[in-house]
Amino acid sequence: MKLVFATNNLNKLKEVQNMLSGSIEILSLKDIHCFDEVEETESTLEGNAQLKADYITNKFGFNCFADDTGLEVAGLDGKPGVHSARFAGEPCNSENNMQKLLMDLETITNRKSQFRTVVSLNINDKKFLFEGICKGEILKEKQGEKGFGYDPIFKPEGFLQSFAVMSIEEKNKISHRGIAIQKLVEFLKDYK
Ligand code: IMP
Repeated sequence: MKLVFATNNLNKLKEVQNMLSGSIEILSLKDIHCFDEVEETESTLEGNAQLKADYITNKFGFNCFADDTGLEVAGLDGKPGVHSARFAGEPCNSENNMQKLLMDLETITNRKSQFRTVVSLNINDKKFLFEGICKGEILKEKQGEKGFGYDPIFKPEGFLQSFAVMSIEEKNKISHRGIAIQKLVEFLKDYK
């Protein structure tokens, strides 16, 4: 079976291809000659993941899955959440987003937070959602050089250092996206 992963992120693509080891052929957007930018206009992670998967299924006719992730900070009522990528506005980059988050938390004691990933799957006219959560807290300053996004200021529960100190393999084992994708992979292994 062929299944499209609606992403342009080659790391994410490789990660899933490795986890499925051949039983299902994972295609990228490039493989199906889709170069469209799908705007994330929904107000929830579920809505945006579904929107991206539906776009591909409706326009190209493929079974497809898409993911969306947000960082939900308890002391900020779940913000930045679905707006994580553009939290600090333009220019949109991780450094500005982290600085804004650190500033917003300056007077707030509750720094508990979680990354949440939602994967939306369209397969043979049916829809399924998979969720992965990684709980942790926002550090007071950046730590580590690896990873991307908010990694330098996010310390997962039960660990002493930020995501940006971990290797990709270590991070994938406990990360929101790793957990959501693992659920998807288990589902696909049993899918007839
Ligand atoms: P996306 O849905 O995977 O594009 O994620 C939305 C935004 O959340 C990204 O632009 C990043 O800022 C942030 N983000 C997602 N996953 C991670 C992660 O694993 N570590 C740090 N930041 C992340």
